[in-house]
Amino acid sequence: MGDHQPIDPPTSTNPRVRQVEAILHGTVIDHIPGHMTLKVANLLARENDQVSIGMNLRSARMGRKGVVKISGRELDARTLSRLALIAPSASVSIIRDTQVVQKFTVPMPKLFEDIARCANPNCVTNHEKWTSRLEVVSADPLTVTCIYCERSYPATDLALL
Ligand SMILES: [Zn+2]
Repeated sequence: MGDHQPIDPPTSTNPRVRQVEAILHGTVIDHIPGHMTLKVANLLARENDQVSIGMNLRSARMGRKGVVKISGRELDARTLSRLALIAPSASVSIIRDTQVVQKFTVPMPKLFEDIARCANPNCVTNHEKWTSRLEVVSADPLTVTCIYCERSYPATDLALL
């Protein structure tokens, strides 16, 4: 009679995925640095989107992190580029019928075109209709150089377009 093994309730088998409610279809952005979570949600969400936000969740890899889930939508290339600029460590999972069908780290372009404004107020791209072009010069921390005025900035200093 002493061989009874208690069965853990399902919620305790994988608490990691239970920190934010699951979604049926859509996109999950995980491993967002804690302080960028609301900015990422703001960036990704459209007016009628259903968005779930988890803040200051525990993460073995990064201590505290944020998770943003958007129901019913997958991200286009431009949105992924914007995400790469403000949360380069983020991972993206595509969910269909509650299953993860694709999971990847945000792709890091060599050049951000028309994604963020050059922070130099005198830069030509802030005065004429030139497309801003910011070249990635360092990945961690993410640093970019404007190819017109040649100034460098930490990505976190830039305003998205
Ligand atoms: Zn510039």
